[in-house]
Amino acid sequence: MPVQAITILGATGSIGASTLDVIARHPDRYRVHALTAHTRVDELAALCRQHRPAWAVVGTAADARRLGALLAGEGIEIGHGPQALAAVASASAVDAVMAAIVGAAGLAPTLAAARAGKRILLANKESLVMAGELFMSVCRASGARVLPIDSEHNAVFQCMPAGVQAGQAAPAGSGVRRILLTASGGPFRRRSLAEMHAVTPEDAVAHPNWSMGRKISVDSATMMNKGLEVIEAHCLFGLPSSRLDVVVHPQSVIHSLVEYHDGSMLAQLGNPDMRTPIAHALAYPERVDSGVASLDLAQLARLDFEAPDTQRFPCLRLAREALEAGTGASCVLNAANEIAVAAFLERRIGFTRIADVVESTLQSLGGAASPASIEAAVEIDAQARRRAAAEVLARAA
Ligand code: NAD
Ligand code: MG
Repeated sequence: MPVQAITILGATGSIGASTLDVIARHPDRYRVHALTAHTRVDELAALCRQHRPAWAVVGTAADARRLGALLAGEGIEIGHGPQALAAVASASAVDAVMAAIVGAAGLAPTLAAARAGKRILLANKESLVMAGELFMSVCRASGARVLPIDSEHNAVFQCMPAGVQAGQAAPAGSGVRRILLTASGGPFRRRSLAEMHAVTPEDAVAHPNWSMGRKISVDSATMMNKGLEVIEAHCLFGLPSSRLDVVVHPQSVIHSLVEYHDGSMLAQLGNPDMRTPIAHALAYPERVDSGVASLDLAQLARLDFEAPDTQRFPCLRLAREALEAGTGASCVLNAANEIAVAAFLERRIGFTRIADVVESTLQSLGGAASPASIEAAVEIDAQARRRAAAEVLARAA
């Protein structure tokens, strides 16, 4: 098989690091075409020296000049800004794109990869939440293959019948009754609402099972992450909200399940390490070593499950309401959440205010129509950010 050329959008992040770890184990299969970062120029330069991409992309012209100086004589092309991101995501030399930018900033380059018909390893769930219908229809038109990286959706994909995996059948017509997404419950699973009022950003980013970027770690603590994942599952697998369930499973060993009409439940298990779904999606339909240790079931001894509590974790309810209202509302939910999480991380609002900001923003703008173009999605996103920023100010500590 020829060596596959991979672009990694968001190479300096947590998913970026895990992807480079898997790729470096298989130089006979994969080479890096491009690495991108937003502001961490020094880290990107170090990754470039190690992984030798043809291209490196950063956020601004000033950062590109600095990167150019750091990489002088290395023979690596340097770009900056949204156009360069789209170019390295869609270049003809590229076989697969790891979409691992965090937040709404990931939409445009991921969509560029979709338009170019690339194999898309999709970690950036926010692009589906913002514009899922548009994104999936672009993929269908171009023949782009989407392989989910989010551990839950990768697990669901692995438990789907072969026809669904091949994109030739829909789960609804293939005997699937429902999808069960597992949730760890995050660091505050046992905290009361009163206790959650006082938690700090440091408490919120200390996830019990997974090591991740700051934004998704806070999303896990509010359980907005699971809400975004319910929307993501709807976009990827086409089932309605009523057939997408969430179960809290604190050990994070079962990554999700698919239930069939005959009562069978198929689950995917493994150690909580993102290199497993990344290796699966890189090599699909083959299997390659990911560096992840075998799961020791005897040592694990037990698996626990409980129903999620939407009283203490209102973000889960808000995301489901947004899914049922349509993609315009999901786009508003995502933007408001990004603003609220950033404000919490900057200590401008308390933890429980994140849900309040999202809820009031949805109340004002949740009637937005589903975006039919990227411009429309970006406009809804911008409007929701302005509204959410005002809601933050009204609640600032
Ligand atoms: P991270 O914060 O560790 O890394 C984010 C990356 O995006 C960095 O490389 C950063 O340079 C880049 N970036 C940030 N803002 C940007 C902008 N405005 N323009 C261009 N690039 C920008 O995040 P992460 O934990 O690696 O998560 C990345 C994505 O994967 C998120 O969408 C997250 O929801 C999803 N995801 C992550 C995990 C995980 O285990 N970390 C699991 C499932 C899904
Ligand atoms: Mg996940």
